[in-house]
Amino acid sequence: MDLVADNLRRVVATLEPGVTLTAVSKFHPVEALREAYDAGQRVFGESRVQELLEKIPQMPGDVKWHFIGHLQTNKVRQIVGRVDLVESVDSGRLLRLIDSESCRAGVRTRVLLQVHVAREETKFGFFPEELLEIARGGGFRNLEAVDLCGVMGMASNTDDLGRIEEDFRAIRGIFEQIRSLGEEWLGEFRIVSMGMSGDYLTAMREGSTMVRIGTDIFGEREY
Ligand SMILES: *Cc1c(COP(=O)(O)O)cnc(C)c1O
Repeated sequence: MDLVADNLRRVVATLEPGVTLTAVSKFHPVEALREAYDAGQRVFGESRVQELLEKIPQMPGDVKWHFIGHLQTNKVRQIVGRVDLVESVDSGRLLRLIDSESCRAGVRTRVLLQVHVAREETKFGFFPEELLEIARGGGFRNLEAVDLCGVMGMASNTDDLGRIEEDFRAIRGIFEQIRSLGEEWLGEFRIVSMGMSGDYLTAMREGSTMVRIGTDIFGEREY
């Protein structure tokens, strides 16, 4: 039974041109990741450092790992140099720490700035006004070893389609506003990571360039 491979193909067939897929494999066993890998998937998203570090050596070396969860500052050192993209940078403090740890390790780290637009207290991220203020104030100019590659965000967890669209539009809007600053550090700033299993079709309509899909590929997670 190649359930994961079939699911993956079905999801990939629905992606719009130019949209890349982060297969969110958190809580799923390496066997499931291998199935997706054998079906052609190379980008995997994990949300816990320990789990990520256990899976890396068990998968082929050409896998690109994205960290998508809340990253505690005391774990930054463990993942710098090992991930292709940190999608979930949710504070200035974390950003500066990733920068200094990347310098120290002699590597560059690609990151996305996580924007908080959802109406939920539990979600992490910069508030839109906060992010714009930092960007306009030159707060992203002096990073030495971090490439700011775009933004990531989540819509509210609701059935209200209008609300979800509004959230995605807000995330895309922040991306456009930051880009329009035209500053030098924006050279790699191209990614808008938004959309999960339940809402990625909507996210793509609102300008997503990267979707993060777990359940639709790997099935329900067991916590
Ligand atoms: C778990 C997770 C996803 C994937 O969610 P699904 O609903 O399983 O597709 C996407 N993004 C983030 C940040 C996540 O934590």
